[in-house]
Amino acid sequence: MMSETNPYMMVGERLCMDFINTVSWRESADKRREWFTSYAKWVDWCIHAEVLTGQQAKALLLEAEEKPSEAGDVLKQAIEMREVMYRIFKSISKDISPHQPDLELFNASVSHFYQTLQIIHEKDHYTLKFKQTENNLGIMLPPILQSAVDLLISNNDLERVKQCEGDPCGWLFFDTSRNRSRRWCSMSDCGNRAKARRFYQKEK
Ligand SMILES: [Zn+2]
Repeated sequence: MMSETNPYMMVGERLCMDFINTVSWRESADKRREWFTSYAKWVDWCIHAEVLTGQQAKALLLEAEEKPSEAGDVLKQAIEMREVMYRIFKSISKDISPHQPDLELFNASVSHFYQTLQIIHEKDHYTLKFKQTENNLGIMLPPILQSAVDLLISNNDLERVKQCEGDPCGWLFFDTSRNRSRRWCSMSDCGNRAKARRFYQKEK
C-alpha cells in the first residue's frame, strides 16, 4: 500500500490501529523496526494519518527545534502509550482480558487529556474538541487516544479487532469485511508470503 502520496502502510482501518502499527515486524526480535525514530518522523506520520495539517506540522517542528528535550519527552510518552495500546488491543484480538496495569496507564492518559475537552460552537453546529494546552508538542496524541476509546466502548465491534496471522508481523487491524474473514494486515504483504509458504511446502 505504498503510494507516492502516502509512503506509510495504513491498513488498520482505524486511526488507533494504524498508530499501533508504526513498528514493522513488531514481534520479531531481529527484524523489528521503529518508525518514530525522531519527533519529526512522528509529525510526518501524523500528517499522513490526517491528525495534523501541514501547517500545524510546520509550527510543531519549529517549536520542537527550540525545545528538543521536551520534544524527545513527548515522543517517548507517545511511544509508551502506543505500546500500552498495542498490548490492550492484542489481548482483545485474542479474546482475553487486558492486563490491569495497562488499563490503568491508558486510563491515566485518558483522564489527563479528556480534561481538555471542550464544546466549540462552529457556525451552525457544536463539536467536541481537545483544547490546546501549554504543551502543544503533544497535540497529536489526544485524537489518537480518542480513536482507541471509541473503539473500546463500541463493544460489538471489538470482535473485529484482529492481529495479522503473518508471523512475526504483529500488526493489528479492524476487520471491515462483511463476513469478518480478513486474516492479514495486507494481502500483498503477509497474505502473499503465507500463500508462497504453502506453495513451497506442497512442492516439498
Ligand atoms: Zn501482517
